[in-house]
Amino acid sequence: MMTLLPEYLDFVQKARNGCEIQGFWPINRLKRLLELVQSDEGNIEAELVFDQQGRQKVITGHASASLKLTCQRCTQVMDYPLDIEFKLALISDESHADRIPDDCEPFLLTDDRMSLPELLEDEILLAMPLVAMHEHDCSDYLLMQRKQEQEEVESAAEKENPFAALKDLL
Ligand SMILES: [Zn+2]
Repeated sequence: MMTLLPEYLDFVQKARNGCEIQGFWPINRLKRLLELVQSDEGNIEAELVFDQQGRQKVITGHASASLKLTCQRCTQVMDYPLDIEFKLALISDESHADRIPDDCEPFLLTDDRMSLPELLEDEILLAMPLVAMHEHDCSDYLLMQRKQEQEEVESAAEKENPFAALKDLL
């Protein structure tokens, strides 16, 4: 069973000792992500490996979640399966960013203990689509919706007629 991820960790110490962390973090506790999703239900599930690559301390991670986004084509809420992998090189100074392994992104340590959910949220936000859209062509849905609206307008117009007729009788 998945457990709640720890919030604050000493990333350097974890990488030095080497460790693997698995768990979940509720979407409703990630404020920046919340602004982009249509539902605050569900969790981010993540596995993170802290270790060293030579002398470089690295975090290798995988995170997944099912997010609810608004399709920019038909404006309906859609399921967006988020699945990301990342590899971060821990650096204590921004000037070290060019010395990290090629397959890593720099992660700047600003404190002894860093927030794991915040790290995940950063990575998720980077991976979010700029424009979310259904994979299938949902423009049919739009047409159908417009047609339905049109029919509703027409049937509403028809319903007015009996009253008009009744009015003539009075
Ligand atoms: Zn759509």
